[in-house]
Amino acid sequence: MPRTRKAPPSGALGARAARGRPRLTPDDVRDRIAAYCKRYGVAPNAEGLPPFPGGQRETQKHREWMALYKAHRRLASRGPSSDLVEQLQDLLARQHGRCPVCRKPVELAEVRLDATSADPAVLHPPCLELVTLARGLGAEALDRVRARL
Ligand SMILES: [Zn+2]
Repeated sequence: MPRTRKAPPSGALGARAARGRPRLTPDDVRDRIAAYCKRYGVAPNAEGLPPFPGGQRETQKHREWMALYKAHRRLASRGPSSDLVEQLQDLLARQHGRCPVCRKPVELAEVRLDATSADPAVLHPPCLELVTLARGLGAEALDRVRARL
């Protein structure tokens, strides 16, 4: 009998698949993305992901980005939880259906949650991107931006 012959599948395989990994929560992914952004000095894009580290394949940064991307996609494929949808609807109603940054109407389907504990709000994706960027750069940088408008 050749030595390379594989053992037949055993019942242990099914048991392993059933255990799986701990359930991923939106908070976990948000914290991981925030930690990555801080570490590499980047801001999340409109999808809520850090920018792709182009030209940096096989680096630690690239591996971390891929892990975040997969976690983010795994969450997105699940769809928003009903709790989250309720929270978004609630905030949108309190904002009279408008984005607090540009003051234009915003639809529930497109809103992004700016989950600061002091003042949570729902914004247009580009408006949240602007806020996130400004937070990272600081108020003084924002003054310099104003001077260039
Ligand atoms: Zn807006």
